[in-house]
Amino acid sequence: MQYALNPTGDRIEAIKGGRAVCPICDSQVLAKCGEIVVHHWAHEAGQDCDAWFEPETEWHRAWKALFPPECVEVPFGEHRADIFTRKGVVIELQNSSISGEEIRAREACYKRMVWLVNASHFTDRLFLMERYGESNCFKLRWKNLRPTWQFAKKPVYLDLGSGSLSGLMGREVLTVHEHPAIPMQKRIERSRYQSVDVGAFGRSSIILLNTLHARGWGSVKAMDRVDLLRVLGF
Ligand SMILES: [Zn+2]
Repeated sequence: MQYALNPTGDRIEAIKGGRAVCPICDSQVLAKCGEIVVHHWAHEAGQDCDAWFEPETEWHRAWKALFPPECVEVPFGEHRADIFTRKGVVIELQNSSISGEEIRAREACYKRMVWLVNASHFTDRLFLMERYGESNCFKLRWKNLRPTWQFAKKPVYLDLGSGSLSGLMGREVLTVHEHPAIPMQKRIERSRYQSVDVGAFGRSSIILLNTLHARGWGSVKAMDRVDLLRVLGF
């Protein structure tokens, strides 16, 4: 976690050799300030008291940094909400895979919440198939779908990282689809991805899952970070 409490009850960030107290369970936490891991507080006893704990990454920190410190790691009973906006919406930042059971449990706990998923690891499995009219909505094909996201009842936003909507229509594919080593069927499929007109939304780096069906078909709405922050509020 990013914040712990000092003896006077102030929220402080980890500094080398530091000690503080966990705001959820009151136990001792130690600063971890290595060169590889993101600087954070870890429970002295080892196990994090929040069963929904996920190791912090630069990605988590970059999103948290967009919000005032009091909106970050807000205690909800025995859990810490990653971000709790001033509009009263919890943003759960999800980097690793998660079970359907845990999705349901977190949604029941936070109620007004959205998921923000780091999709930058798997943009190579996301493809835009079609644009719906002149809208900013597109048909999505999610190859080898992580089935758990079908269980989400709250909005799921995928963060494409440095990728963009144009990337999802297969920019990389453009150069290789003529390659003789690629089977004909694949070449046909890939040329379909290329033909999607993403219009002004090509540079969008966030997609909201509108629908998601078994076998990885669904639809998405394109937006960028500024749109997302506007929707959720600071
Ligand atoms: Zn704790």
